[in-house]
Amino acid sequence: MNTTSQRKRLHKPTYRQASDSTSALGFSFQEGVTMKIRCSELPRALKCPASLGAGVRIDEEGEAARIGSAVHECLAKTIKGEDCDWESIARAWNVEPDQVTPLAGAGMKAWNEMDITPVAVEEHLTAEVADGITLTGHADIIGDTVSAARVVLDWKTGGSSSSYRDQLIGYAMLARENGLAEQADYTPVAVVWLRDGVLDTEYITADEIGELRSDLKAISAKTDRYSAGEHCLYCPRRHDCDAREANLRADVKVLTEVKCEALTTPELAALKPKADALKKVIASYGDLLKRRLAESGPVDLGDGREVVLEKGERRYVKTLEALPVLEEYGLTVEDIADAVTISKSKVGNLLAASAERGQKGAVRTDFDAALEAAGALEVKEMESVKIRRSQKSLTAGG
Ligand code: SF4
Repeated sequence: MNTTSQRKRLHKPTYRQASDSTSALGFSFQEGVTMKIRCSELPRALKCPASLGAGVRIDEEGEAARIGSAVHECLAKTIKGEDCDWESIARAWNVEPDQVTPLAGAGMKAWNEMDITPVAVEEHLTAEVADGITLTGHADIIGDTVSAARVVLDWKTGGSSSSYRDQLIGYAMLARENGLAEQADYTPVAVVWLRDGVLDTEYITADEIGELRSDLKAISAKTDRYSAGEHCLYCPRRHDCDAREANLRADVKVLTEVKCEALTTPELAALKPKADALKKVIASYGDLLKRRLAESGPVDLGDGREVVLEKGERRYVKTLEALPVLEEYGLTVEDIADAVTISKSKVGNLLAASAERGQKGAVRTDFDAALEAAGALEVKEMESVKIRRSQKSLTAGG
């Protein structure tokens, strides 16, 4: 069995003591008022307690978050044996089904391999973990493995983050506080990275849970510390935060002044998180500009050019209606097969829709295997640079 070492933080928070209960930077922690912290906020809150503070807070639900919510709903309903159509769930979250169904499919594949008996699925948990501090979170699954070990399972739909362990410690703490996990030396947490197809099992120790409790107590008492970094990306205070702006300016300076060709590969790779953060800033600038131009119309740049929202259209062929036309033009079945693409996830959904309760995941797995055996799956290799967890071969509760 793997055991964990003591928790190490990349950026241990250093605190400045506020002279009274209200900091100079706008945070106000009032005695007698309960502060609620979600487990998903823990990595950011522990690095930058000021992110929990007052001031302009804009909670935006970006596309990545909506994809994550849709995938979680697909998996929860399928595992609970409820009737569900993954594509309808995706559309209800206002995202393209193709961004959801492969991730949900990867989750079901992992789920079928893990052999866990669930005792709670998508359970909202809450616990007062320190005076005036309530920790909340949704445990994706809490269940028992074949070896009878109780495990907390967390689906991850995004790329890897360097600090998600704090979140896992939060889930383990909530499971224990709510009587869903034993007060043992450690609580296993299975993390399924759906994009990478990797399963990590992390062992959260009782010491780490105790340390988190102390850190949360410290947050309420020492809250004027800003610390900018990758964790700013989804902070509700990011639109109005001088610390984040200064950090981004520094990143731009590094990326524009560095002579990339002269760097070693490890030095280049180390710049990737900064480059990704700037790419996201530029993407959100693009979205904002699009919305504004839709309201205002073209904007003259004063140099003979204008910025305009140009509209175009794509035309799609409706397969069913097109079939008679294709035959009329003498196309053979082979010609048509060459021109038509079959969505594996859509066909999988059709099969799952007519499957018995509790059999939907197994039907999809069988379907994949049948396609493979018939030589009907073609694999195209793609290349992209991304940040992911170092791969390990672990099994839940093993
Ligand atoms: S944007 Fe970053 S630095 Fe500013 S409050 Fe949020 S986490 Fe802290």
